[in-house]
Amino acid sequence: MLGVLLAVLPATAASVSAKPAKPAPASRAARHAPTKPSPATPTKPSPATPTKPAPAKPAPAPARPEAPRPDPLGACTDALTARRVAWKPASRPGIAHGVEITGPLGGVTITSPSEPLVIDCSLAVSLDEAGRYLRAAGIATATFASAYSRRLVRGTNRPSKHSYGLAIDLPTFSGPDVGALSVDRDFEQGLGDAVDCLGHPLTQGGATLKLLACQLARSGLFYLVLTPDFDDAHHDHFHLEARSWSERTAVRSPAPAIY
Ligand SMILES: [Zn+2]
Repeated sequence: MLGVLLAVLPATAASVSAKPAKPAPASRAARHAPTKPSPATPTKPSPATPTKPAPAKPAPAPARPEAPRPDPLGACTDALTARRVAWKPASRPGIAHGVEITGPLGGVTITSPSEPLVIDCSLAVSLDEAGRYLRAAGIATATFASAYSRRLVRGTNRPSKHSYGLAIDLPTFSGPDVGALSVDRDFEQGLGDAVDCLGHPLTQGGATLKLLACQLARSGLFYLVLTPDFDDAHHDHFHLEARSWSERTAVRSPAPAIY
């Protein structure tokens, strides 16, 4: 009786999977079915054989959608050029695709008084795309305190993403309508939650910076966005961190890490 029930299973699976022509998992099931001896004759094929392939099938199937993964975005620098970003090659130890940015990113000038902006191309693409959020907030210029920098994550022996040119620290922002905003002075800590990111800022500057932080974190353009809310080490800047180009399947990640 049990033997008969189990023996019927492969026949049912085969007939069900025969209907949809396309789905990948079904075609794999169909491929397995014919290899078993005559699934149509429900006499007594050993009950152990039909049960084995069943759990084995779902595992390899999900691997298929990842097949087109290798570099679907093309060369990063091609993407940067297509975005009309002004850049030139900048080779640095640790940076996979080093670029020196010589013009605005997404309409926003990102400058430092002491050094040119040298970062990995992948971060440059994210910053270029993120420019819309800064401009919407009335920001025309941002300064960076640190971009490419060979160092460890504080308190660890792990290299910081700054070592790969994939992170940038932004302490101040300015624009004709918002004036000069400093993360250290204007960011209001402890606002918002997972549902209401913005919360209830008390000042206009606080509202602008918090809204900007929320938008950057949720944009999916950065793997990590750290603000003064994260820890004391970030009390005076936003730390934006992008994934390397080879790790990205899209410019926007569906699930960025948000803190
Ligand atoms: Zn940083």
